[in-house]
Amino acid sequence: MKLHKTLLLKIVEPNEGKRKKLENTIELYAKVLKFYLGVIPKLGMYRIASMDSKSALTFLEFNTVPTKTHPNPLYPIFGGVQTNIRRSAINKAVGMIKSYLSNLLRWHREGKELEHSKPSYPNPKNFSFTYYATDVEFEDVLSAKEFAFVKLKVIDEKGNYEFVNYPILPYRRFYEKLSELKSEGWKLKRSATLIKKGKSFYVALTLEKVVKKVKQERPKYVINVDLNIQRNLACIGIFEIDWEKRESRLYGIKFIKRELTKLAYKRDYLLEEIRLRQVLTGRSPERGDNRKLWRKIYNLNRDIALKVAKEIDEVAKYFKEKGEVVVVFEKLKGLRGKRGKGKRLNRKLSYWMRKSVQERVEYLAFENGYGIDFVYPHYTSKRCCVCGLLGERFSPNGSKALFGCSRCGYEVNADVNAVFNQHFVYLSHLLHGGGEARPVVRVGVSLKGLRKRRHNLSGASKAMATFAY
Ligand SMILES: [Zn+2]
Repeated sequence: MKLHKTLLLKIVEPNEGKRKKLENTIELYAKVLKFYLGVIPKLGMYRIASMDSKSALTFLEFNTVPTKTHPNPLYPIFGGVQTNIRRSAINKAVGMIKSYLSNLLRWHREGKELEHSKPSYPNPKNFSFTYYATDVEFEDVLSAKEFAFVKLKVIDEKGNYEFVNYPILPYRRFYEKLSELKSEGWKLKRSATLIKKGKSFYVALTLEKVVKKVKQERPKYVINVDLNIQRNLACIGIFEIDWEKRESRLYGIKFIKRELTKLAYKRDYLLEEIRLRQVLTGRSPERGDNRKLWRKIYNLNRDIALKVAKEIDEVAKYFKEKGEVVVVFEKLKGLRGKRGKGKRLNRKLSYWMRKSVQERVEYLAFENGYGIDFVYPHYTSKRCCVCGLLGERFSPNGSKALFGCSRCGYEVNADVNAVFNQHFVYLSHLLHGGGEARPVVRVGVSLKGLRKRRHNLSGASKAMATFAY
């Protein structure tokens, strides 16, 4: 898989003539892009989306560009378009269609039920023109001179597509950032993208990194994450595994909340407002003013999800310095088939949040080279992590935060209990060759030193677990 990052360089305020050329170029590109976005549905959106980019390019050119052997294509494009501008626009249009269709599919699968708005057919307002490597030169910029230039091919008043020099102002940390990324294995691509933002023009350089999915069969650290969006956001158990002694030791428990809880309160407040309005007006949650509120909630949720993912990533990166790491989540059950009354809204939101966190961490795992894995939840929050009996959650102060076992008397933070259980399920998965992710070892049987002790959080953190079987 290839990952990309971009670095923006501002073009120093160009004079009128030079500026006009940049505008001509972006305008023409926008026109061509719109043309192809119009043609694609007529030629078969799904058909084109199923092709690789090279075949899609050939197919679209055959149907739009007149040639000697094929003078009358089905949908001829207007004249005066340079080949590379056209090709760049076609590649962009095909990419937009592909992501539109996959968003649409996602929306039908779950977005609709989550009340996300339906994706609409691409209709870009801002345009960024990605140059072919032959039409842009930026070596000068890389040499860290005081005044650097990029050479861009732009369209002049006569319609010619020629190289022009544009002075660039690299921002203060540009060179620092560039060498940092290079040392992390990112490679600078030869192409670049021209972007218009407001009245200014920018050149974006693209860095690429090829990564492989990390598969850890014998990780040194297993990081089990319980996402409980309503309570702690996330509870992370870090376990160190000694493969010689066949032991797993709890390294520590970390909760993610702090300032994030503020965001969550804010979201819950908005949700309450929607509920109230629903009761007062009898309107469905999607209509009218509620739409604005939903948008806010959606944004807050996304914000929370990204931050939770970032904190999990920080933990994983820290332990990766010491040995191989795998981050483990519970596999999410789909939304379907869980139609019930009651807290539907909460469930939907929590599903979407957890999914967002997992997807983001999956991406970061790719980028930063640690493993990611999933276990099927198997009564992980209902079973006692010491004796394996089904216990119950209770709350001394009104929030359902503790887990208590009636057989062995064990008491612990409910999320910690879930993390422990998840860890045992994953261990048995690791031990038994990773064939099936189900608890082969009965949860709790293999534990030492946890029995009949009443733990609070700090007590649980000191606990040792052994997985001899
Ligand atoms: Zn018990």
